[in-house]
Amino acid sequence: MKKKTFLEELLEAKAHRYAVGAFNIFNHLSARAVVQAAADLDIPVILQTSVVTVKEFGPVGLGAMLRQIAEEAPVNVLIHLDHCQDVELAKACVDAGWDSVMYDGSRLSMEDNIAGCREVVAYAHRKGVQVEGELGRIVGVEDAVKVSADDASLAGLEDSIYFVRESGIDAYAPAIGTAHGVYKGTPKINFDLAAQLKEAVDTPVVIHGGTGLSEETFRRLICSGGAKVNVSTAIKHAYLDTAREYFGEFPEKIDPIDFDRHLSSAIRETAKEHMTVFTKDRI
Ligand SMILES: [Zn+2]
Repeated sequence: MKKKTFLEELLEAKAHRYAVGAFNIFNHLSARAVVQAAADLDIPVILQTSVVTVKEFGPVGLGAMLRQIAEEAPVNVLIHLDHCQDVELAKACVDAGWDSVMYDGSRLSMEDNIAGCREVVAYAHRKGVQVEGELGRIVGVEDAVKVSADDASLAGLEDSIYFVRESGIDAYAPAIGTAHGVYKGTPKINFDLAAQLKEAVDTPVVIHGGTGLSEETFRRLICSGGAKVNVSTAIKHAYLDTAREYFGEFPEKIDPIDFDRHLSSAIRETAKEHMTVFTKDRI
């Protein structure tokens, strides 16, 4: 099938008021289950890898495995590196076949964040790979990236416009009050910033911390221009909770394929539920 790039998919999503789901996968089974969910709904999808997962498999091995899944899929599947603070690792993923990489310099000063983004952008763009950047600090834990409530900060409009322009990034993840991990209480989200960014910059906006938001919150964020929504914790829960239930229900069973099928269908359903919400207001 004809394949659109990461940026083309996000611009199309922004124009048509839906979001492409980006699901953090961690092995072959989870990647395939997410792709099956996208195929069920006939929509594009992003397989997102954390730095921990990349280091576990190695960029070359993981890249080859995910490329094969993408090539066999009946829908457009893009491979994305999530929250990478290491310029060299981001470059290694560019070389190993990722479609896009996130350089996360959000812990740095504005100028150092921009400098890191520019270095990754220069390298990635030469190979047709796109780059996501972050400003402000998204609270919570996402694999090896931990930000406490005291260190969290939200992005502002003027800084966002400056950062997007100077860094040359293709997709922008502003900290707008969503969080990594599981929410404690209702998050305070700056919907106005999302809406203002939609008008102020062409660059598509990425929403991090997509696990546990209400359907209403997702739809408001997407109608405000959120073109990519990241979901990680919900996929981990689908996998591990199903494993626990399986062992409780079938303590004596020795059938790894049957076990894998249970895990796979749980991830497929969880991904599909999110994708359905992300495409509900499509125009
Ligand atoms: Zn994130």
